[in-house]
Amino acid sequence: MKMSNMIIATLREVPAEAEIESHKLMLRAGLMKKMAAGVYNYMPMGLKALKKVEDIIREEMDNAGAQELLCSAVIPSELWKESGRWDAYGQEMFRVTDRNSREFCLGPTHEEVFTDIVRTTIKSYKQVPLNLYQIQTKYRDERRPRFGVMRSREFIMKDAYSFDTNQEGLDVAYDKMHDAYVNIFNRCGLDAKCVEADSGAIGGSNSAEFMVKSEVGEDDIVFCTSCDYAANIEKAESTAEIAEKEELLPLEKIETPNEKTIEDVVKLLGVSPKKTAKTIVFRYDDDKLVVVVVRGDREINEVKVSNAVNATTDLEMASEAEVRAIFNAGFGSLGPVGMKECTLLIDEEVAKAFNIVVGANEDGFHYKNVNFGRDFEGTVGDYRNITEGEKCPHCGGTVTISRGTEVGHIFKLGTKYSESMGATFIDEDGKSKPFLMGCYGIGVTRTLASIIEQHNDENGIIWPMEVAPYHVVVIPANSKNEEQMKVAEEIYNKLKAMKLDVLLDDRNERAGVKFKDADLMGVPMRITVGKKVSEGEVEFKLRSNSEVETLSIEDVYNKVESEYRK
Ligand code: ATP
Ligand code: MG
Repeated sequence: MKMSNMIIATLREVPAEAEIESHKLMLRAGLMKKMAAGVYNYMPMGLKALKKVEDIIREEMDNAGAQELLCSAVIPSELWKESGRWDAYGQEMFRVTDRNSREFCLGPTHEEVFTDIVRTTIKSYKQVPLNLYQIQTKYRDERRPRFGVMRSREFIMKDAYSFDTNQEGLDVAYDKMHDAYVNIFNRCGLDAKCVEADSGAIGGSNSAEFMVKSEVGEDDIVFCTSCDYAANIEKAESTAEIAEKEELLPLEKIETPNEKTIEDVVKLLGVSPKKTAKTIVFRYDDDKLVVVVVRGDREINEVKVSNAVNATTDLEMASEAEVRAIFNAGFGSLGPVGMKECTLLIDEEVAKAFNIVVGANEDGFHYKNVNFGRDFEGTVGDYRNITEGEKCPHCGGTVTISRGTEVGHIFKLGTKYSESMGATFIDEDGKSKPFLMGCYGIGVTRTLASIIEQHNDENGIIWPMEVAPYHVVVIPANSKNEEQMKVAEEIYNKLKAMKLDVLLDDRNERAGVKFKDADLMGVPMRITVGKKVSEGEVEFKLRSNSEVETLSIEDVYNKVESEYRK
């Protein structure tokens, strides 16, 4: 491409709302332009990079035996009602109504659609296994769109769905996708780590996420420093810290007129926060309540709680008014002792502690010397987040926690959708059975942003070769110099003939401006045709280092070729 013919959308000033490097750079380098919150237009340079990522994904998916198709983004509500997700999906779903008042959504994901395609096409065990995928635009009305296309309201996803007749088949499909994802992220130059993820009601090691480390990531990832255990904090099992054994003391009710928080109670009574427990009430599935008790210094893990009660909607903290209406006490005075009939989940550490302090379900009072079994009961389990420095659930080593962003997700769905939507096949034994399904997503636009997040410096993007929109830029230092322009054009044409993506910066600009733009756009290789051209020499530079090599024109082609193939 000749840059004199290009729409160049680079920016000098970056909007203040761009907080992270990739967002700033995608705007500064002119890869995309914002149209509304979480809605972007891709400019030619951005689209070209996006297509490179898509091509890698396509190749690896095809190699893994998956087949590409393309579904509509407009999905009738009936399909979602069949799976029960029309209501459960909530406000994140963009809903539209047609002129006849028929309801549709703009697809946030496509499990229902693929299940429908297969149930109306595939009848026999002989026609599977199948893995179908698409690279398509998704819509989610995110509560907080931010960081550019890292969390946008319209984004491109590769979503794949596998259909098998038995568990072994599903395991094979899942493992193939795992391997394909490793290849995809490697080829994208992305350091993405596969971590165990929560798989809800299905449980087990049936779900994994590919995470990139990022300080602004919205997930916490638990890593073991001794073994290769890595899990999303939502999933990571915690090991209860065993409290020192004590004799059980008599239960005592104490006045705590001004003590509303754990810190207040700890201060008043001079006890360790480990000897306190907090009691939180959540609402789910519209009208159900669950009460969770964890140690005062711990954080509740809502995913573990949600799985324990088989919630089909997100948990929401009950309001103080609601809590008061049911338990006769405000937030700061709740506790498990004598709690009115309700689902009560007790974290293992609380059940194993001695003589703890809890709220008395009466404003201004707490109980002292409370003991599980004697003073209260409940379902004991792991309902809290693991914390930095705790024991690895696999090897007993020590865990650390870092922030991360999910770029891909692989998930064994089992018969969740095939059962609810009646997607069945006739098996060898003549019986009708539901398909075993898996689903496998990659955020394509988020992957693109993550690549930039991991590959940049103060001057701009540094594209890894395989996803670079252009591999090499040829710059005549002085566009008014005929010889420089002529040689630059020759090199440009020859490199294009070598099937490389090449830019010729034939704009009537100063060399400095061209260099700056080439750096900002992140072109991996730069050839400058300057004064030495009269001696048959040009300059070669990689974006990734500062070294400038002088090469003969003949040698520059080999150099480009070998760097491209590296
Ligand atoms: P997150 O926890 O980040 O919201 P998710 O669990 O909702 O992700 P999935 O439903 O598994 O995501 O979607 C598959 C992939 O789509 C994710 O791995 C992610 O890369 C991408 N993705 C999801 N939501 C967005 C978004 N709002 N903007 C850009 N990419 C997204
Ligand atoms: Mg989400």
